[in-house]
Amino acid sequence: MEPNPLKKIAVLTSGGDAPGMNAAVRSIVLTAVHFNIEIVGFKHGYNGLLTNDVVPLTQKSVKSIISLGGTILKSARCKTFHTEESALLATKNLQNNDIDALIVIGGDGSFRGAVHLSRFWNKQIVGVPGTIDNDIDGTDNTIGFLTATETALDAIDKIRDTADAFERIFIVEVMGRNSGFLALQTGIASAAEQIICPELHAPEHHDLEQLCLRIQSAQMESPHNSYIIVIAENFWSGGAYGLAQTLSTQIGIDCRPCALGHIQRGGSPSSSDRILATKLGAQAVEAILQGENTVMVGEVSGKLKLTPLSLTGEKTKTIDSELIRIQKTYID
Ligand code: ADP
Repeated sequence: MEPNPLKKIAVLTSGGDAPGMNAAVRSIVLTAVHFNIEIVGFKHGYNGLLTNDVVPLTQKSVKSIISLGGTILKSARCKTFHTEESALLATKNLQNNDIDALIVIGGDGSFRGAVHLSRFWNKQIVGVPGTIDNDIDGTDNTIGFLTATETALDAIDKIRDTADAFERIFIVEVMGRNSGFLALQTGIASAAEQIICPELHAPEHHDLEQLCLRIQSAQMESPHNSYIIVIAENFWSGGAYGLAQTLSTQIGIDCRPCALGHIQRGGSPSSSDRILATKLGAQAVEAILQGENTVMVGEVSGKLKLTPLSLTGEKTKTIDSELIRIQKTYID
């Protein structure tokens, strides 16, 4: 067998944290240890590359972290990483630490950062998709998406109880940045009366008049029922609060707004996220050993798929067309 030329790998978690990032770190560490590769973590996303905030990672450091939300490496945004100066400083620190390859766990922003770094640092970089938004092309699910779906669904089910008791209208805002994966999934699973997200209807089809007509006809039909609207963040100006205020001041419809916010990012990862993270973490190390560079490891139809990092945020990832058809034809 060829001697393994890789001596030391680094890993970091960057951008919005997602449940399952720790499971991915654990898998990366255990796989690296298996291949006798030294493994270290840079803390606080790309900030750690600039400040040389580096910690050794061992089997011991990743014991029992699979069930933890957040990330033991901490995550952050690093505003200055766009500059050439930052990429050069990161390169210097990577070289000083004798790093042969870097694994970036994060979303499409973090992958753009990785592509930026690759223009200056000529070693291997592999991405692992970790974001609750699921807006990365090249993988059916990103690590954290399914856990966030369950968390949001649990919250909406609870909102339904109180909405039923008071016969109220609620507008529930879920995360997703500019995509409607979470909104569609949780809206359908919670039997929301309306789902407002870019993939289901173009913004122009969600004008106020349409929205009100639907609420009013539902209220006429069943005046004592609750009514839940699930809305994707960044879709309506002012989000759930803005929409509730508009409905109240302009139309006189009384709604309770509720932005689920950061609770969607936290919590122990679901079994599916732990398993996806375990697979992708190991496959990231294997991809490095096979000489891959600036690619993301993803899973499509149960199979490993490598996608160039530069393409992961390029195309808008499409939502399950069958789900959209069923929602639009029979439910909406
Ligand atoms: P996510 O990875 O969750 O999409 P962000 O979009 O906030 O999160 O990106 C995380 C970090 O990636 C940013 O704070 C920045 O440090 C880095 N980054 C994003 N885009 C670029 C870019 N075009 N060039 C260099 N670094 C970038």
